[in-house]
Amino acid sequence: MRINDNFEKLPESYLFSTVASKLREYRESHPGVDVIRMDIGDVTLPIPQASIKAMHRAVDDMAEKTSFHGYGPEQGYDFLRNAIAVNAYAQRGIEITTDEIFISDGAKSDLGNLGDIYAEGSVVAVANPGYPVYVDSNVIDGRGGTLVDGKWSNFVYLECNEENGFKPVPPAEHADVIFLCSPANPTGVTFTKAELKAWVNYALANNAVIIYDSAYCAYITDPELPHSIYEVEGARECAIEVRSFSKTAGFTGLRCGYTVVPASVCGFDEAGNKVSLRKLWLRRQTTKFNGASYVIQRGAEALYTSDGKIQVRENVGYYLENARLIRETMSKAGFTVFGGDNSPYIWVKSPDGESSWDLFDKLLHEVNISCTPGVGFGSAGEGYIRLTGFNSKSNTEEAMRRIIGFFADKA
Ligand code: PLP
Repeated sequence: MRINDNFEKLPESYLFSTVASKLREYRESHPGVDVIRMDIGDVTLPIPQASIKAMHRAVDDMAEKTSFHGYGPEQGYDFLRNAIAVNAYAQRGIEITTDEIFISDGAKSDLGNLGDIYAEGSVVAVANPGYPVYVDSNVIDGRGGTLVDGKWSNFVYLECNEENGFKPVPPAEHADVIFLCSPANPTGVTFTKAELKAWVNYALANNAVIIYDSAYCAYITDPELPHSIYEVEGARECAIEVRSFSKTAGFTGLRCGYTVVPASVCGFDEAGNKVSLRKLWLRRQTTKFNGASYVIQRGAEALYTSDGKIQVRENVGYYLENARLIRETMSKAGFTVFGGDNSPYIWVKSPDGESSWDLFDKLLHEVNISCTPGVGFGSAGEGYIRLTGFNSKSNTEEAMRRIIGFFADKA
């Protein structure tokens, strides 16, 4: 058998393993020093009680002949798809039908698997810096071309920098598929409706499709900011939205998310005929995906009960409060910061032009906190680091005391 050579083109991902090994080495050579993890990309609070109770009940269902569930529908159970259609969309004035919602085992799978429904030769646009799955999954599918100075020759890179506030803007070139993320990982910035409208206009003018990753939409508290791309006129014709219960409700270990493919989003076949992407995605999922488990989907459904909603708000509010403290403290300590107000991520600029890894080493050795070097998310992340609000409140407070102590001393 001949392998898929694209795997050999992919460089090793050293980011998280290097962070882990640097941390390990430091801890071994400095026993007794307490390093606070501000690089955590996973949630730390347990699953909301409403969800836990629902999952216990669902386990009991599996014990009885009359309520047992075998193979489930690949698109997801109606009870969860209806709850999403009503609570995540209709109640926000957005028309999304149950048929347009596909339950998944999380956003990462869908973001990667969507590549099955667009042509191998599609031109893909990605933000630099951005969530690495968009790039790597398209390279695996053969859309990267060659890697030159850290960039794939066939991709359109949407450069993010201080001048554009780390928000990608529509490029001059044509792209067929555009990955947008809001609130963004790693930069923590969130699109306004007007900014998203520019993207929808670009997609419509280019016959392109936007894959809108809103895994962090639960963190949006500013009422002016859109939670969904479908709040923008025209998006039902050009956008697929991918969401997750991972960061909303701590489902990183349970695995559940969903993808919305409106019936009106189309691509074109070889002969130029319009083809519904919803139909293709349904075919793809029924062929290759087993669906999320019954028990987990019951757990996700419970997040939309009145108790569930309160508990989700409390969990998200806890991380947002940490993020606020980090953003304000880093600003006070003289850093330029982005994000952290409608997002768990805070994107921090090196004050003296140090590289991402130099600032990582300085924070680890001198302040005893760990972060994620921004360059690991793309070349435009060089000179930045990412901090997260996912640690405990007390650890976050202690980390920020250390920051103020160290950087105020240097000022
Ligand atoms: N999208 C973004 C931007 C993320 O940061 C993550 C996880 O970190 C995901 C998607 C994946 O989410 P899930 O756990 O649902 O696969």
